[in-house]
Parts: sequence; C-alpha cells; structure tokens
Amino acid sequence: MLDSLKKIFSGNESELPINTGSKPDISREKSAALYEKSKIYFPGGVNSPVRAFKSVYGTPLFIQKGEGCVIWDADGNQFIDFCASWGPLILGHSHAKIREKVSEVMQGGMSFGAPTALENELAELIIQNNRFVEKIRFTSSGTEAVMSAIRLARGYTKRDKIIKFEGCYHGHSDSLLVKAGSGLVTFGETSSAGVPKSFAEETIVIPLNDTNALTEAFAQFKDQVAAVIIEGIPANNGLLLQDQSYIEFLRQICTENKSLLIFDEVITGFRIGFEGAAAHYGIKPDMVTYGKIIGGGLPVGMYGASAEIMGHISPDGGVYQAGTLSGNPVAMAAGIATLTELLRSGFYKELNAKTMEFVESLQRFATARNYKFKVFTIGSIFWFAFTDQEKIQTAAAIDASSMEKFKVMHRELLNRGVYLGPSGYEVGFVSAAHTKTDLEKAKRAIFDALDLVFKK
Ligand SMILES: *Cc1c(COP(=O)(O)O)cnc(C)c1O
Repeated sequence: MLDSLKKIFSGNESELPINTGSKPDISREKSAALYEKSKIYFPGGVNSPVRAFKSVYGTPLFIQKGEGCVIWDADGNQFIDFCASWGPLILGHSHAKIREKVSEVMQGGMSFGAPTALENELAELIIQNNRFVEKIRFTSSGTEAVMSAIRLARGYTKRDKIIKFEGCYHGHSDSLLVKAGSGLVTFGETSSAGVPKSFAEETIVIPLNDTNALTEAFAQFKDQVAAVIIEGIPANNGLLLQDQSYIEFLRQICTENKSLLIFDEVITGFRIGFEGAAAHYGIKPDMVTYGKIIGGGLPVGMYGASAEIMGHISPDGGVYQAGTLSGNPVAMAAGIATLTELLRSGFYKELNAKTMEFVESLQRFATARNYKFKVFTIGSIFWFAFTDQEKIQTAAAIDASSMEKFKVMHRELLNRGVYLGPSGYEVGFVSAAHTKTDLEKAKRAIFDALDLVFKK
C-alpha cells in the first residue's frame, strides 16, 4: 500500500482501497542453505515436525535473533512475530528482566540435581496466586507434565481408561497420540506409528461440544474412567471455543462418576489470565498441567492438584515420576522473572484489550469486503479461519480445504514482514512487546494479504 493511502485511513476499514499487487518473495538463500544442511542431520531437517513448513509455501526460515515482537532470519529479513515460540513468549523475545535473572543465576552453576531455593520461589509465585493447585511438580516439558498427570490420575483412581477429545493436543506421549475411531464413542486409533494398539485402547476419544457423547462414554465405560482430559481452551487445532455450559456439564459428569477432570493448560495457563482457563470458566479441575509460559522460553512444565492427590506422587506415594533436569535453576529463573511481570497489576487487562482492538479491526475489514474470514479470539490468542461459520467448536467443523487460503496468506505475510506459525491449524499470540504501532503495521500487512487471498 502506498504511504499516501495509509494517511487517509481513519479507522474505517471499509474505506481502504483494494490491494492487488503481490510482492516478490523474500530472499531465503541463507535459510535454504541451512535447511539443506539440517536435512543431513535431522529427519525433515527439524527437531519438531511443524517447523518444516510442510503446510505452507517455501522452506523453513532459520531464525537468527529476536527482540521484543520482532524476529530476524538468517538472510536478515525482519518480521513481526505472532508465533512467539508457539506460546511461551508472552513478554516477547529477549526480555531484559528474564535475561538478567537468567544470567545472574547461571553465574552460580547450571544444574545440581539437588533442590534449590529457586524451585520454592517459582512454586510460591504460582501457588499463592492460583486457586486451582495446592501442590505441584515441575517437569521439563508440557508433554512430560501431561503424561505424568495421566499416570497420577490412574494411580489415584485405580482405573485405567482416559477420555480425550478430538481436536485437543496434549503432547506426544503414547496414551495421547490417539484419534477418534469411526463411532461416536470409540476406543481411539493411534495417530502415530509406533503406538501399540493396546495403549490406544485405554484412551476413549470423543468430539468436543457434545454432551451425548460424554454421557454415552461414561455409561459404556462405567467405573473405568480415571480421568477426562481437555485443553482448558482447545487451541492446538484451531481455536475451538467451548460454551460455558458444556464445561459445566463436563465438570459435573466427572464428579458424578468419580473421574478426575484434568485441564491441560499448557497453552492457556498464564496466557488468558494468570490462572488460565479454569478462572475464565470459574470451574475447578481436579488437576492442572502448565508449560510454555511458565518457563519464560526455557524448558519447564508442571502439573498440580490438591495436596491429597499430589500425595500419591513419589516419594510420598506410589506413582513414580522423576527428572534429571526437573526444576532446573536456570529454567526456574526464567519462570520467576516472567511470572513476576505477569503479576503486575493490569498486565492482562492491557494485553487482552490490545489484542481485542487488533482482532476487531481485522474482522471489520474482512466483513466490509465480504471475505469468508473469521478471527476467533480469547485473551491474547487469535486464530484466522477461512470460514463463514459464526462458531467453530469441533475439529470436524474445520474445513480442511480452507487451508489452501491460509497457505497464500502465510506467504503474502512473510513477504510483508509478518510471521505466523506455518500451519493454518495453529493459533497466533499477541505479546506484551507488540506496541500499537507494531499491530498497526501488522494489520496493514494482513489487510493486503487478505485482498490477495480473495483476489477474483
Ligand atoms: C504445547 C502443548 C503441550 C506439549 O507441550 P511440549 O512442551 O511441547 O511438550 C501439551 N498440551 C498442550 C495443551 C499444549 O499446548
């Protein structure tokens, strides 16, 4: 868009002229060379599959540095980043407070495999400001936290089956790499090679937002269900915002059946508010898992529950769980610095209001142009959906063919200096480091990209 045209924009998105000009692709010489090399060392050239850009155009960008809301790739291209390392970076990249705390702690050594005061400090920040956990255990990833919470639920209830929902992601442990079978209530089918069928048979997979499926699952597997696990707000396969009444129903049916309700808040915890989705609904799960933000960009996960339930974890109880680097001091330091910032008064109010303004402007633009495009949002999470449905609450309601439009948008946004996670099923995050000016710039890029996506 021309600068002269930018000036006349008065906040009325419908007045903007339609952009028709595609931009040349950014240079990727250095990233491409690094990718050629990384493919020699790693399957698909990456250490986590979605990074490989398989669902979007081009090859992965190798990131060189980040500061605030901006990242630079190996070729020196600069982007406003909404991937935020997939969620952890709620304060943006390389935040000074985190850097300082981490360097200070690192001067004294990096790991002892013995308790440190830093673990108490981070635990205190969490437990004193969270109504949903009394006792916790730190792990090194979200996957580990969820895997351990499931084991604890099974050990505590002395039952084996768990219920999960189609469209929720809970990390890559065997019991959870399971997708729905053909019926409404079925044993899961493994969603990865290498997961024994017998493991998948302990996991029942049902659709979200379906009280009948829940009722039927509990009837069919009476007294066998250790726990139901749900993402606090499902945000790993689109943003599938559930109705309050559905979550209330879920809480109630778990209580009636003496099954534990686990909120996997690895993505929503400390994101949509300090106490995550549980506080958003005002519903108390029996167990909670956290990750991502809790480590401020370093590897930390956590699970927690009442002192009574947590009393079943070793060495107090019979459910085993351990970790060489669990509670690692450097990672604790990053967590402490991050959570301290989040507890400042007005933090979430400001972040969420900024996000709302951004999202509403995008939606006004798309609506004024009659584009089949909807931005779903909660807190500082947003999801771009190429749809005209008012609500998308189940995995099945996502139109897979609409991902072609996301691919075009992704390419056009990279060419305009905006970085989204490389898949249309992934959500984006606004951080405290995104200024109004950054968001204004990003908006212009998104407007232009949308014009090109929907170009006749
Ligand atoms: C990211 C995520 C996980 C897995 O965490 P890792 O740190 O990637 O192992 C689990 N559950 C949810 C809800 C997540 O968003």
